[in-house]
Amino acid sequence: MGWVDGFRYAQPILLAYLGGKGFMGKYEAVAVFDNDESGYLKWVEANPRGFVANLDKAKNILRYPMYPMVHKATHGSISSPTRRNYTTGEYFKFCSTDLDTLEEYSQEKFGRRLTYCQQCMR
Ligand SMILES: [Zn+2]
Repeated sequence: MGWVDGFRYAQPILLAYLGGKGFMGKYEAVAVFDNDESGYLKWVEANPRGFVANLDKAKNILRYPMYPMVHKATHGSISSPTRRNYTTGEYFKFCSTDLDTLEEYSQEKFGRRLTYCQQCMR
């Protein structure tokens, strides 16, 4: 029993170690919220120094050439608990505490660079 339990508990640590830039999933540090308002709001609350990128689900570059747009998690328009429809409407969010990771994710996943919000990312 001993080593099985030991292995089970060691796993999250191993995955965390490999997570960053390791071969097992480079994007462990990016959280994607699609139709998940409570998950999204929890992430924003737990990561006040994080970054949130907003992209239309259709990924229509002609209609929304400025997306994905990245904000600080503290920007009111993307994290105010009084607002809703952050991830349930036309848009979804992908988030990270590391801006470079988010940029890399956006380029590899969507082939698009992040646009910086003119209000909070100046
Ligand atoms: Zn902003």
